[in-house]
Amino acid sequence: MITTSRRPWIVFLIAALILAGMGSLASAQSTPEMPPGAPPAGTSVSKVAEVANLQKVHADELGVVPVMMYHAFTSDPSLAAEYVKTLDDFRSDLQWLYDHDFHVISVRNLLENRIDVPAGKHPVVLTFDDSLASQFLIDKGPDGTYTPRPASGVGVLESFFARHPDFGHTGFFAVVPNYCFSDSEIDEINAYATCDVKIAWLVAHGYEIGNHTLTHTDLGKSTPDQFAEEVGGTAQWIDERVTGPANMSRTLVLPYGGRPDPKSNQDVFVMLRDGFWYQGQQIILNGVFDVGGGPAYSPSSSAWKAANLPRVNADPSVLDYWFTQFTNGDVILYTSDGNPDTVTVPNPIPDFLENEFDPQVIADSGKQLVRYDTADVREPSASTTTGGASPNADAFVVGAAVITTDDGVRLRSDPSTEGDILATLGQNKNLTIKGGPVEADGFTWWQVTTHRGTTGWIVEDFLANAPS
Ligand SMILES: [Zn+2]
Repeated sequence: MITTSRRPWIVFLIAALILAGMGSLASAQSTPEMPPGAPPAGTSVSKVAEVANLQKVHADELGVVPVMMYHAFTSDPSLAAEYVKTLDDFRSDLQWLYDHDFHVISVRNLLENRIDVPAGKHPVVLTFDDSLASQFLIDKGPDGTYTPRPASGVGVLESFFARHPDFGHTGFFAVVPNYCFSDSEIDEINAYATCDVKIAWLVAHGYEIGNHTLTHTDLGKSTPDQFAEEVGGTAQWIDERVTGPANMSRTLVLPYGGRPDPKSNQDVFVMLRDGFWYQGQQIILNGVFDVGGGPAYSPSSSAWKAANLPRVNADPSVLDYWFTQFTNGDVILYTSDGNPDTVTVPNPIPDFLENEFDPQVIADSGKQLVRYDTADVREPSASTTTGGASPNADAFVVGAAVITTDDGVRLRSDPSTEGDILATLGQNKNLTIKGGPVEADGFTWWQVTTHRGTTGWIVEDFLANAPS
């Protein structure tokens, strides 16, 4: 299905890509007559603004999506362990994600590739395994209403979501019906009798209920009958209690990460892959999560496999590693273009996403492909420019020999991001300072001349004095 063509120039871009065998789009867009990142002639000013915005937010919808994996929680730091996280630590994870422009989405929206988050935001999924009591304790008020206990996982989530309404508000609970958030040793209100109250509360507050088997059995070692009962039984248990989008009974989280081997346990492997019958009902799984493994591929990536979905273990030692990867650029995160109907892929594609780009996969999903030229990103955002608004007249002197410090640096006709692109320069190109500095559009610009005699303007951040 192709959605209505609200963006006719995108169709042109895709056609151009196919005709050009991909790759020449950047040069076609960089002709001097055109403003930065301009789409082909005949498009409206608002489309130009749209492309500029994609550049500004570094939209890339082939990047990875972290699916966070949580287990038990504790208030007591001395009890913290690999699968037991302190509530303070959990709260700081949420804060870190919020501070780094993540936006919480549901598992359903990930599986259905309906990632509807603002432009520039990175989707993140929060999953909670085992339906342990520490994830969701409740209190009962004098009027008979139930509220999440602040010192439990859901208590922390609810208070964080309430204080950060622009963060999204959901989470996926992989439930083991035999546990169902109960522990009679904590108190009576959190014994198994309130299982249904808790499930109903989660559903009413936007959370999802997923399948983690009846008794937390290792499906890698189970027989076909055991598999059918454990997974089919849980699916039916959820179906009896949950209607609407919160019902994720066909989305399985593998206990212990146990996966049936395609050779030694072929019957169970086929049940997992193709579905199975349980008590007269056909059950087909729509997604299977592993234990750990790192961030998940984008659902628009050709590497996406709903039956093999890795997750990010929230144990601090593992999480510190991934949080560092997310910020140092070693991992490219999914960054939204703000429109769930389009898939935006920068041009050029970062090297390690190249193999995951297949325009046919995107076309088959019914979404429109959008490409934009990242060369314009060579002008950093104003907020990252050092020195504030005052030009640094000491940086260079007129007549000085300078070089470019990066690839793809734009030489513009005027000291402005609106200036025509006269050339796109590689790294270490020799230039001579002719004038400046001029402060405009949040950048400091210097007028330079190339060795071929072209004069134009470049942002100071991409210039250095030539080695003498
Ligand atoms: Zn588990």
